[in-house]
Amino acid sequence: MATEQRSAPRAAKRRLAVHWRILIGLGAGLAVGLVLNLTKGSILAAVGPDGFDRDLVDFAVALNGFVGDLFLRSLRFIAVPIVLFSLIEGAASLNDLKKLSRIGGKTVGIYLGTTAVAISLGVLFAQAARPGAFVPDALREELARGQAAQAAQSIKSAVAPSVWETFLNIVPTNPFASLAQGQMLQVVFAALAIGIALTMVPAERARPVIELCGTMTQVIIKLVHIIMMLAPYAVFALLVEVIAQLGFEVLGGLAVYTVTVVAGLAVMMFVVYPAVLRAFTNVSYKRFFRAIAPAQLLAFSSSSSSATLPVTLESVQDRLGVSEDVASFAIPLGATINMDGTALYQGVAAMFVAQLYGIDLTLTQQAMIVLTATLASIGTAGVPGVGIVMLVIVLQGIGMSPEMMEKGIALIFGVDRLLDMCRTATNVTGDCMVSAVVAYTEGELASEEEVAARLARVEMEPIDEHPPGEDGAAA
Ligand code: ASP
Repeated sequence: MATEQRSAPRAAKRRLAVHWRILIGLGAGLAVGLVLNLTKGSILAAVGPDGFDRDLVDFAVALNGFVGDLFLRSLRFIAVPIVLFSLIEGAASLNDLKKLSRIGGKTVGIYLGTTAVAISLGVLFAQAARPGAFVPDALREELARGQAAQAAQSIKSAVAPSVWETFLNIVPTNPFASLAQGQMLQVVFAALAIGIALTMVPAERARPVIELCGTMTQVIIKLVHIIMMLAPYAVFALLVEVIAQLGFEVLGGLAVYTVTVVAGLAVMMFVVYPAVLRAFTNVSYKRFFRAIAPAQLLAFSSSSSSATLPVTLESVQDRLGVSEDVASFAIPLGATINMDGTALYQGVAAMFVAQLYGIDLTLTQQAMIVLTATLASIGTAGVPGVGIVMLVIVLQGIGMSPEMMEKGIALIFGVDRLLDMCRTATNVTGDCMVSAVVAYTEGELASEEEVAARLARVEMEPIDEHPPGEDGAAA
């Protein structure tokens, strides 16, 4: 049996690695989306009856939207159960409260530290590039008028919870309601509490529950594998939908702003994270990015860290070698509270809006941006477009008037989806990096060789031959 399993990979036909397939889907989606975007109301008009081109483009966009949403829904549907079961199992089998609090402390500490670095980077970049000075007056008026309603809506829906409330909200009054509503922090709390308490009841009573959670985790990881076979097509569909609908005209006037945000995110992703990795682990640049590419690409395509969560979890465990104990704690927590990309973006955006009005922010105000954006990014849900809503809280923090906020936010709405894609990819990369650092310092990061062997098996095996018990833990 064992020999059969070992020889299975050799017998299976080698397919292109999953991250390449997703990348191809992404490239093709980008190209088709662009063609559709440019086609709206033009080329096809020559060959079809009136309105034919628009109908066709609308149909293509709707079809791709449907496929993409179906995929995201199937990922969302497994996000809550995977966190619940894997965390209960992880906490219960850890059997060591000291270790659990050490992992918790390190994770939260690095999350907060990297978030503060991200915002400071955003503020610095915006200081240097001064994107607010590059917006022509006419465009400013036009954009502000066009998006005023949406901006007003954002301002209305941004409610800053107090720090007390934020902490209080972590404890669910009814864990079943938290599960049903997908409130991830509360689910994490409930799972940890149950897992820890399981270690305190007689072992023979706890065992069946822990085993059930372990089996359910494996079942859900299997579902992730199955769903991920569709990822290249889904990513294609998601990209077609978004790019076809984007209005690229606004890019012109907001080019400096867009480039500033993207450059900041790129530095965070490709310089800061690898530097931290290098300082604390032996994980190479190539190994890290190769392993987490599926999660990054999906985050980019979906603009949602919570929809990407199951894939992030699978990538760091199966492809990077982070133990299940660390991954099942750090990744769900990160998808909820660690939003470095969002924080950096909020830093740039706040400076940008201030520059638009010729306001020179004092050092204290800039420090205020760092503080409020850290809190805002913790409170930002991992779904598309929330970052811009939470920006209101940052702008309020520096004492901006409602009219200025409304105009400023209206101005940047047009490019927000594009930036959301980039910041979500950064958010997810940060979570992966921190999980690797915590795992390495705990001696729970598998070696590259172990991971390579496991990866070869996962990528080459037919889905039903994946041996149980090898999906998760590296330890
Ligand atoms: N879309 C982001 C995420 O899911 C949040 C945001 O910045 O809007 O991580």
